[in-house]
Amino acid sequence: PTAGGYVGRFAPSPTGPLHAGSLVAALASWLDARAHGGQWLVRIEDVDTPRCQSGAAEHILHQLATCGLHPDGPVLWQSSRASAYQAALDALLARGLAYPCACSRKDIALAHAAQGHARERHTELPYPGTCRSGLHGRNARAWRFNAHDVWSKVAQTPYQCAQAASFLIANNTLHWQDRRLGAQQQDVPASVGDFVLRRADGLWAYQLAVVVDDAAQGITHIVRGEDLADNTPRQMLLQHALGVPTPHYLHTPLVRAADGEKLSKQHGAPAIDLRQPLQALSAAATVLGLSSLSHHGEIALPEALALWVRAWMPLYNLPRD
Ligand code: GLU
Repeated sequence: PTAGGYVGRFAPSPTGPLHAGSLVAALASWLDARAHGGQWLVRIEDVDTPRCQSGAAEHILHQLATCGLHPDGPVLWQSSRASAYQAALDALLARGLAYPCACSRKDIALAHAAQGHARERHTELPYPGTCRSGLHGRNARAWRFNAHDVWSKVAQTPYQCAQAASFLIANNTLHWQDRRLGAQQQDVPASVGDFVLRRADGLWAYQLAVVVDDAAQGITHIVRGEDLADNTPRQMLLQHALGVPTPHYLHTPLVRAADGEKLSKQHGAPAIDLRQPLQALSAAATVLGLSSLSHHGEIALPEALALWVRAWMPLYNLPRD
């Protein structure tokens, strides 16, 4: 058990049931919490309502329970958190760390073209900063984080926070340690720029919601899929701007479909088979590098989970360099 308390979480978006890929993150976050003698919470990230599927959240909670993964506290629903997100946005606006933006996608593309940047396929263009200096009479559509200004402030005073993980900005790059991937880095202004906190359709952006809720729930350790690793520097800057601690991060391996694509609901991944929870969990455990249960003969679900908890610490306890 760690001194100072460990609070972890699994934060699924209810866009469909758990599949072999999302079960890896669920199991890993649960094992890490158990291995640290900590708490494990579940948060339903139902903030992007058009993408949510009705009944999916209840289905996910039922799947977790069938797999023996029981949260240690009440489930938090992001759809109930609008006032907390608004308060965070107001706090940032008051300090000039967020601003309203009037630009449409087309405006942004035009600004890039005017600066001579070619649009790369499949990459979101970093916002060119048009509205950072004000709306100039145009109407606000979205609200953006002033990553640019936060960045220059952090660069002057490297962020260190006792009892939590830290990051630093050196040579215009944010450096951080992932517990599995090791040293990571990103130039936030160049690669993502002033990202959106509240969207033009009025919905709260994932980046703001996740940071506000991780802080409100006192999350100390985040364990989630590797596809989210490149969001981490944005979330660290937001944590810094909001004055909340930076948790430790561990990004788990992704499960790939036969064609090499990440397994996802959009990709048509089937829901895990609840008649065989141990089989589904064993597959997830194998992805995480935990040994197979084959020498254990007939084994019950709780015993399998207990075995994996013991095997977890030697694999993922120590930060790599
Ligand atoms: N809700 C996100 C997802 O399901 C995960 C967010 C997180 O773990 O930070 O992809």
